[in-house]
Amino acid sequence: SKKIVIKIGSNTLANQDGTICKTFLQDLSKQISHLKDQGKQVVIVSSGARIAGVATLAKWMRKEDIHYKQALCAIGQVELMDAYRRVFEEEHIHIGQMLLTRDDFSDPHRTLNIRNTLFTLVDEGVIPIINENDTVSVEEIKIGDNDTLAALTTNLWNADLLILFSDIDGIYNKNPKTYKDAEFIEEVNNIDVLLKTIEIGTVNDFGTGGIATKIEAAKKVNNYGIPMILANGKKENILLKLLDGSEKGTVFL
Ligand code: ADP
Repeated sequence: SKKIVIKIGSNTLANQDGTICKTFLQDLSKQISHLKDQGKQVVIVSSGARIAGVATLAKWMRKEDIHYKQALCAIGQVELMDAYRRVFEEEHIHIGQMLLTRDDFSDPHRTLNIRNTLFTLVDEGVIPIINENDTVSVEEIKIGDNDTLAALTTNLWNADLLILFSDIDGIYNKNPKTYKDAEFIEEVNNIDVLLKTIEIGTVNDFGTGGIATKIEAAKKVNNYGIPMILANGKKENILLKLLDGSEKGTVFL
């Protein structure tokens, strides 16, 4: 795979206390730098703005007002990008921020514009870091979760592979955090069959989409003939290991 989209979930990015995990980001930037040296191109879709916002302004945490939530994302997005910028700077790699909404994918004119921006950044060796623009996205007009945003981005960019990083090794027949005997599923060829055979458990901690949106994302990219891997982002060198086959996640083909 030459063109790879990597989605980082909130659970992967954050420590237990809600702060951004620096060692994870350092590890990630090193691996991406390595991939760039091999001639590969990478786009990141990253969650974590809300968590980073809460970590910065804890007193707002309990505010339920939608505008406070959006304001929290506005604050956290800066923290998030600052964390990315610092680690990529060490690798001498520039990053670019793209904040998108659902409209950007439904209006052909806007879609063309973001597509061109995306290609330009990547062609110039910059790593685009994409997130939903939560400051304009109220519930009704939201993409809603970054698994979907990552899938839309993958198709838009005509990527060769989508990797979703979460805090579990992949799909199991039931929630591995609840059931010790949950069985790992290595490969999925038929999503409809999968959905009939597994149990989708609840999401914990900072997660938003859960497993359902990850399976939906797989469906979206598989429709374009693009494979998706769901893997554990917390494992050391997981990105390189997935690509050389020494580590496994769940592969959707
Ligand atoms: P992220 O924030 O990384 O995008 P989420 O927390 O939203 O991820 O979703 C992943 C979580 O879904 C896992 O931590 C796991 O507890 C839960 N889950 C529920 N059912 C399953 C299942 N059948 N297989 C794997 N994980 C599951």
